[in-house]
Amino acid sequence: MALRLYNTLSAKVEEFRPIEDNQVRMYACGPTVYDYGHIGNFRTFVAVDVLRRFLRQSEFNVRHVMNITDVDDKIIRNAARDGVGVKQYTAKYEKAFLEDAAALNIEQPILARATDHIPEMAKFIAELARKGFAYRAEDGSYYFRIAKFPAYGKLSKKDFAGMEDGARVDVDEYDKDNARDFALWKAPKPGEASWETSIGPGRPGWHIECSVMSMEELGETFDLHAGGEDLIFPHHENEIAQSEALTGKPFAHFWFHARFLLVEGEKMSKSLGNFFTLRDLVLKGHKPSSIRFLLASVPYRNQLNFTFDGLKQAATSVDRLRNFRMRLATSQFPAGANPAMAELACESGERMKAGMEDDLNTAQAQAAIFDMVRAANAAMDSGQLKKEDAAPLLAALEKFDEIFAVLKDDDAPKMKAIYDWAKAEGREKDVSQELLDAIRAQQLSDADIETKIAEMEQARRARNFKLSDAIRAELAAAGILVEQTKEGVRWRRK
Ligand code: AMP
Ligand code: ZN
Repeated sequence: MALRLYNTLSAKVEEFRPIEDNQVRMYACGPTVYDYGHIGNFRTFVAVDVLRRFLRQSEFNVRHVMNITDVDDKIIRNAARDGVGVKQYTAKYEKAFLEDAAALNIEQPILARATDHIPEMAKFIAELARKGFAYRAEDGSYYFRIAKFPAYGKLSKKDFAGMEDGARVDVDEYDKDNARDFALWKAPKPGEASWETSIGPGRPGWHIECSVMSMEELGETFDLHAGGEDLIFPHHENEIAQSEALTGKPFAHFWFHARFLLVEGEKMSKSLGNFFTLRDLVLKGHKPSSIRFLLASVPYRNQLNFTFDGLKQAATSVDRLRNFRMRLATSQFPAGANPAMAELACESGERMKAGMEDDLNTAQAQAAIFDMVRAANAAMDSGQLKKEDAAPLLAALEKFDEIFAVLKDDDAPKMKAIYDWAKAEGREKDVSQELLDAIRAQQLSDADIETKIAEMEQARRARNFKLSDAIRAELAAAGILVEQTKEGVRWRRK
């Protein structure tokens, strides 16, 4: 079997085959760095990360490029409001975005910043103008002439032939030959950031930056282009028009779009009070691993309805996986092997792979691993799991984690970093008790905890229950849960 993906361009699920052997060249539209990233943004970035990780697991070499939009109307407006330069304004949010992505174990793509590619954009626009696809307005802005590109609409399946002439495609308020035409280059306005270039002063439109940077990094035609579904039109439609008009060749073969996330059944919006950045959730005490697990749990083309109940369940699921791994890695099992366990590991691995190959059905992959955990735990409880069975089960779990990336217990330091940020930003009032508990748990190292547990066990064996209870209470206060099991004492951070 091979990976099958839905391609927005063909409107079909197709087998994914890269242009060149096992090299995948992919581009994902990145953040506009004018504010902190919200969970809707991270829904899409986690979906792209899952794709990237699964491609690698399927033995493709992946060259993954992502832009950082560090100039646009909102950025210019906000920088002016705060009385800082555009670069200074965006540097803060770019850093925050990269930190948040790292907290969610999103692997960092090759980054391309719009403001580092302005001369190339000017050159691209000049070439479009030379070919008759672009024209200069009186004020020095440039527009793309949609009427010259009959394939316009092929991605979004909009019928522009029938569209009435004055219907608006773009919201820019500049003079154009046809209201549908979109801006490639915006003439400077007083007080706004602008660049001197070969086509005159101004700044690029949003669409041109992705055409220029993707082709520069990946070539005129590449394998896959990704983003949230809101980008299909006009952003990606415009990217196709610009790029294909310039080269006369197909731009990207596959178009991958993640469905928009809802929060408690509604569109996320500041006015509804259901708008959450990643940092908002961590300040409430939620772990980055729970958030990643939840964001990855619904296949990217299905609507993910983010709820706090769902987030709690995700935390429980991650705990179950971590506990299972610890139990497998640390328990004493009877010698030998139980063939049913090796079979269970193998079958679960195959189910996971089949799910992922089916247009990245992450829900099926998760179901497969939890079925395995349930069956293996039952075998451990009844003494049916033998020493040699641990390795294949652990290997299946590792394969799962190559995609889902939630097993490593490193939430506490990430949460501490966000706590420090909140203090620096004067947002202590938003810090919850749950966050403080999670951070406190970090202050004891693993070795400290093991030592304390050994002392507690020793006290218990000596029937000094007062001391053993005191140690347990001390651990609990530091956010460490201690459990007595048949195999001895296990612990985990709350
Ligand atoms: P932006 O920073 O607004 O340019 O968006 C960055 C990425 O997040 C784009 O791929 C958007 O499509 C995506 N995005 C924005 N809101 C949501 C949402 N509610 N659900 C899923 N993806 C989103
Ligand atoms: Zn883009």
